[in-house]
Amino acid sequence: IVGRNISAIRRLERKIREQALFDSLTQVFNRHHLTPLLDREILRSRRTEAPLGLIFFDIDKFKLFNDTHGHHGGDKALQELGQLLRSVLRKGLDFPCRFGGDEFVVIASNSTDANLLAIAERIQKEFSVLHQSQVTLSIGMSMLEPEDSSQSLLERCDKANYQAKAQGGNAIVHLQTDTLP
Ligand code: GH3
Ligand code: MG
Repeated sequence: IVGRNISAIRRLERKIREQALFDSLTQVFNRHHLTPLLDREILRSRRTEAPLGLIFFDIDKFKLFNDTHGHHGGDKALQELGQLLRSVLRKGLDFPCRFGGDEFVVIASNSTDANLLAIAERIQKEFSVLHQSQVTLSIGMSMLEPEDSSQSLLERCDKANYQAKAQGGNAIVHLQTDTLP
């Protein structure tokens, strides 16, 4: 009986740990975990001199999707997006995270800008295939620069995402400090 109780406690502990790390709907890292993860990967990138990239994207016209398919349909699309990210990304190198609502971030360690673009294009394509080209993504991406903090890198990617949205969505924009307007 004691053995059974201990394994139940272990299961509960594991569940609590998972809930602290992962978003319950999409099963990717939650917002709370983004900054510590990104700080850790930035340190690693500087120590090993391996390039690091960041992707920030959100679903175009997702409110309309909810209106058409119901909140349940919207939840399902987010769930499938989480699955897609977990299957497309490299385990232990890329870290997908739900930033909030329909916004997601991917930390891509050990990635050149060409790798980062390939990851962004793959996410965009697979998502579009999943929804028969009915739903699209606006994607911003940027590479870590010497002066960056996690905050400044995130802000640049957010700006790039905003520019992709301003182009009418279904676009990928790559921004670096020297390409900022
Ligand atoms: P835009 O094209 O400018 O990105 O607009 P949008 O309609 O996608 O709306 P926006 O990005 O401004 O807001 C996100 C919307 O996503 C709001 C809400 O309707 C929907 N949403 C956010 N979180 C959830 C969720 O957990 N489940 C569902 N079903 N919908 C969500
Ligand atoms: Mg949106």
